[in-house]
Amino acid sequence: MDKNILYRSIPKVDVLLEDKKIISLIEKYHRDVVVDVIREEIEKIREEIKTNNDFDFINKKINNLVENISKSVEKTYSYNIRKVINGTGTILHTNLGRSIISKKHANYLSDIVTSYSNLEYNLEDGKRGERYSHFEKLICKITGAESAMAVNNNAAAVMLVLSSMAKEKEVIVSRGELVEVGGKFRIPDVMESSNAHLVEIGTTNKTHLEDYENAINENTGALLKVHTSNFKILGFTESVSIKEICDLGKENNIPVIEDIGSGVLVDLSKYGLEYEPTVQDSIKAGVDIVSFSGDKLLGGPQAGIIVGKKKYIDKMKKNPLTRAFRIDKFTATILEMIFKEYLNEEDAIKNIPTLSLITRDLKEIEKNANTLYEKLDVLKDVAIINIEDTLSQIGGGSLPMERLNSKCVSITPKNMSTASLEEKLRLDENPVVGRISDNKLIIDMRTILDDEIDILSKKLINIIKK
Ligand SMILES: *Cc1c(COP(=O)(O)O)cnc(C)c1O
Repeated sequence: MDKNILYRSIPKVDVLLEDKKIISLIEKYHRDVVVDVIREEIEKIREEIKTNNDFDFINKKINNLVENISKSVEKTYSYNIRKVINGTGTILHTNLGRSIISKKHANYLSDIVTSYSNLEYNLEDGKRGERYSHFEKLICKITGAESAMAVNNNAAAVMLVLSSMAKEKEVIVSRGELVEVGGKFRIPDVMESSNAHLVEIGTTNKTHLEDYENAINENTGALLKVHTSNFKILGFTESVSIKEICDLGKENNIPVIEDIGSGVLVDLSKYGLEYEPTVQDSIKAGVDIVSFSGDKLLGGPQAGIIVGKKKYIDKMKKNPLTRAFRIDKFTATILEMIFKEYLNEEDAIKNIPTLSLITRDLKEIEKNANTLYEKLDVLKDVAIINIEDTLSQIGGGSLPMERLNSKCVSITPKNMSTASLEEKLRLDENPVVGRISDNKLIIDMRTILDDEIDILSKKLINIIKK
């Protein structure tokens, strides 16, 4: 067949502009946007004709042109960031936004950001204030530190710390701690960007105190300890504790910096998890500066929290990078609320979703699995559905070895493939993300919120019954 015939059969823009459906699109949205989309969709077909010889396929595309224009215009105006129902069981899922915020905190945030606020205004004396002032004392009270501040994320925090404390100086780090965290945060690269000189000591599996001692010289700017977060080396290993590094730093009058990664403020071993050193432990050990993420185990907004000695924090506050990395009012507002919860550990566990999901009672998860299972009873002829044991992960590079006992609902539809069910859920307006294992779709109930069970069951029934 002659490709020219295909080219000629594409409707012209003027003709399309007279189509009823297109006219109603223009009435609902903007003419310019619709015209742009028409041109783009026509161009897509021309491109297809050029490269594709499947004429039936191209004819179908031409017949569906108005439909596709309509979909594309709708898509231009609909929000791309949407709520996702997390059936993966991974609590700090980096791709799904890490920590979630409670409705109570989000409602207060909404109040603050839809009006003016005292973000940088001291109401007592009517003068300019500091955006950190709303939570600095609070963080100090909780962690035992002298001073605190926050920037956009922990990657920025580490850069700011190194650039303020060790610019043009040597920073000593164990080879066992030269980590790469998701999204290409690599300690050696960050070091370079901060103009600090990396001095590697020890080996991948073993670093001794004397390795630090031997590396210290007049150019040493800091001793840095980095939490290995997302991996564990097992077997014949040795690392130097933060306490020993701090003592060595003091003896030699060299500041000690720690990138503690997740930044836990409560002893999680009380809740049956493996012991994870807290920020308070590091402060007690005498660390000069410690930084951690806001949206990992802390359970707050994306942020990098820096705590420690006032003389160093004051220096950081004056560093021009602080202006580049500064948090906005959304973050400042939530940080204050999150840290207020930590004034009492029980409140933190109950009111911070990340902590309540990690410590969620297995009985409660099982109860929710049963609720979903019963709601799906109408599918019993078209799908195999079961409640099974499963293991959830914490995620976000936190406690990588930890697995939490959980319950999942597994679904194998009989009238479509499991992959197709997974895809339909993922492409839904309010998407559901699960995983496939053994030809079953697995929905881990640990990360399904109470008010999502009903929505999820309706979606499943709607998709599988169709
Ligand atoms: C996660 C992590 C970072 C990066 O923190 P972000 O808040 O994601 O920027 C840095 N260092 C360690 C050890 C981490 O675990």
